[in-house]
Amino acid sequence: MVLLPAPRRVVSRQNRKEHSPVSLYPCSSCGQRTKGRLATAYIAWFKADGARTCYKMRLCFDCVLRNIAPLNKALREADTTSLTWCPICKSEVVGSDLDPTYVTMYLPKSEGQEFAYQMHAACAAKFRGPVTQDGILQPDRGVILGPQDSSPTQDWSQVV
Ligand SMILES: [Zn+2]
Ligand SMILES: [Zn+2]
Repeated sequence: MVLLPAPRRVVSRQNRKEHSPVSLYPCSSCGQRTKGRLATAYIAWFKADGARTCYKMRLCFDCVLRNIAPLNKALREADTTSLTWCPICKSEVVGSDLDPTYVTMYLPKSEGQEFAYQMHAACAAKFRGPVTQDGILQPDRGVILGPQDSSPTQDWSQVV
């Protein structure tokens, strides 16, 4: 019986030896100062009185994968044509329970991309909790992002 050698992870070893630049800022979510660049996310929503709230977060790769990518994955895999499909609990939002959250994501070396997530009020509150805790509240610049900006033809695959 011949045992094959385990595949060697040559690339990652070489990477570790190099002096990789550490990001200037810690990740807003996990607090780690990771190697490489951080993505920047502006996460916004409208409060009941119509005022826009926007938080900025600097996110490391792992935290984008953990926090944002699952939403896009859920929408991509949703077996529905509904435009009000909540990516948090993966079911349709009906009527006044709709509480959208808008994310503008700047991945390193990429143009900003806007995403509109149609959420249940309760799901939105769950999603926004860590954002209000860890994010940086942005001054209201009067920029209005509305449902009219959320084209259903967006290419979700770019985010994963
Ligand atoms: Zn992180
Ligand atoms: Zn939901």
